Amino acid sequence: MADRIALEEHFICDCLMPYLDADIPHVSADAKARLVADLSDFGERRLAAMAAAGVSRAVLSISGPGVQAAPDAAKAARLAHEANDVLAAEVQRRPGAYSGFAHLAMQDPAGAADELERCVRDLGFVGAMVNGHTGGVYLDDPRHDPFWERLQSLDLPLYLHPGDAYRLPYVLEGCPELRQPVWEWTTETASHFLRLIYAGVFDRFPKLKIVLGHMGETLPFMLWRLDSRTKFLADKRPLALPPSAYLKRNLFVTISGQFDDVPLAAALSALGADHVMFSVDYPYEDSGEAGRFLDRAAIDAETRDKVGRGTAAALMHL
Ligand code: ZN
Repeated sequence: MADRIALEEHFICDCLMPYLDADIPHVSADAKARLVADLSDFGERRLAAMAAAGVSRAVLSISGPGVQAAPDAAKAARLAHEANDVLAAEVQRRPGAYSGFAHLAMQDPAGAADELERCVRDLGFVGAMVNGHTGGVYLDDPRHDPFWERLQSLDLPLYLHPGDAYRLPYVLEGCPELRQPVWEWTTETASHFLRLIYAGVFDRFPKLKIVLGHMGETLPFMLWRLDSRTKFLADKRPLALPPSAYLKRNLFVTISGQFDDVPLAAALSALGADHVMFSVDYPYEDSGEAGRFLDRAAIDAETRDKVGRGTAAALMHL
């Protein structure tokens, strides 16, 4: 029996349901009812899915966008606090099976830092998840420096989860098939991480640990090219290192929703097994398929153990 840790495993609570509703308009009524039932359950349904994936500990997070879609900052902070308390109660009920990622109102970065610290120190959470931009503001904006400082001092990861583009890129207009998880979220989230590099966030906070799902949103394929083309840029902000060095140092990826040997080989080759972790993306992916993929992936036993558990345990001090 595998003893895996998974860290892109979602839930929903009543207070954040309206934001989820607005985010999945394209799903049929039946599928939506099933998703909401899976997301709302902290008992047999979820535990059975974990068992099917060989997961003994799931780090739970809100199914996005959550309060990041709330225009009112005070309301966002209040609802995030409430959602974190709901999660803390469930973690307390099953401390052997669940851990938590903080849900944060990034409209107020200093307030988000305080809420993160409350979640870590008082509720025992092991990091945070942020769903892309907040009202069109990305995390490379200097207003987030107090937040980064606090996250770095807590030595815990931030999971940068996809969210919708602030404005739909023109190339995606008229092609609804490319919206959201098929392609939009990949470019949106990879670009968000690259913004952190080029804005110098990792020079100011070199110990930050950022997690991307979906095998790194294609970035493990891009190290050489990013270095090669960045060298020739005329108007670039100063960077201490080539882009690939930040990708190797500050980026951690999960295999969530990418159960395929080719991108796994790329991620392991580009970043190393100490930066690659198992995850499912419950309930949006099939837990059994995720588990069987890692059981059979073309990797050696030591790498399988690191990806399944060791890397995540080290990252979150579990
Ligand atoms: Zn997800």
